[in-house]
Amino acid sequence: MNNDAEAPAEAQPDAQVDPPSRKRPRVGSKSPEPSEPQRHERLWFEDGNVVLQAGDTMFRVYRGILCNASEVFRDMFSIPQPPEGETVDGVPLVRLYDSPFELADLLDVLLNGKKFMKQSARPTWPVVQSLYRLGTKYQMQDLRGIAVHYIKRLRLDKQQRRERLYDPTKSAVIYEPADVIAMANLASAFNFGKNILLDFLYVCCQLNVEQLLEGIPHSRGHVERLSPDLLQACIQGRENLILASVAMVRECLVGDRCRDADCDLILRERRIPEEDTKAYYNTDPLGFWDIPYYQKQYDDLKDLVCQTCFPAMLDSFEDYQDDIYAHLGQYIKLNVIY
Ligand SMILES: [Zn+2]
Repeated sequence: MNNDAEAPAEAQPDAQVDPPSRKRPRVGSKSPEPSEPQRHERLWFEDGNVVLQAGDTMFRVYRGILCNASEVFRDMFSIPQPPEGETVDGVPLVRLYDSPFELADLLDVLLNGKKFMKQSARPTWPVVQSLYRLGTKYQMQDLRGIAVHYIKRLRLDKQQRRERLYDPTKSAVIYEPADVIAMANLASAFNFGKNILLDFLYVCCQLNVEQLLEGIPHSRGHVERLSPDLLQACIQGRENLILASVAMVRECLVGDRCRDADCDLILRERRIPEEDTKAYYNTDPLGFWDIPYYQKQYDDLKDLVCQTCFPAMLDSFEDYQDDIYAHLGQYIKLNVIY
């Protein structure tokens, strides 16, 4: 049942299926059998002068617009079409070895750009990824630039880390759990740089081991899996981040800043959760105070500990977290040099 979005499109045999299907195109149909190519529901313009086919989806669009946006298309169309070339309704057909989803994203932004910009104060990750990948492949600098803009905004700066902006409800890009894996894979494949890759892998480390090993089904029908080297880095990284959380609690829950011995006692008592050991063994030292157990501790301690020790304790956590973030590569170890 897997329908890998990356699978190169095979040439489809002439339709012998009956009757010729005129129903709405089912982009990314899960059927493993080759099927009759379908016209894209929206990206099919009756006056279009070229048909692009990716997988089993056809798009009737405009050569001039493609050439204007892309050097690759410009070169492709500068070669005269052979008279015996394939056509659809008399219009030349060009087969592309892209995912139909990604090509649809690219053409949608190219041809419905205004609409896209309006909706996309927060675009979805798959659209950003399509623009990056195909914008790179077809040398469409403007579209690629839009993707780069959003990808950069996914970096976790210090303030964002505190506010948990790797939370998909607040992030610059709308994404689903499987997209976190796609982000790391893309950053690695296109060599975005070590720091942004580590940011994405840190978020991947918050997935459970089963999700990491099995991959996560995407709403577009495929399963996102980390590449083997990234998977290894994350499995080991989770363990290291758990150890870092434990060490951070041990170091930072102390109250030796005032003369009141009670503060120290109260803070030390909170080091080990009574029931919720998950809170103690957590993979998210950077989001520590958002873990429900410690959220509660935070509220309690604010009243129980003196006005010197409480802010001092928060400062120690902050310093410790900054240090973890500054040395993320020591926790999530990459085999490849980026
Ligand atoms: Zn105190």
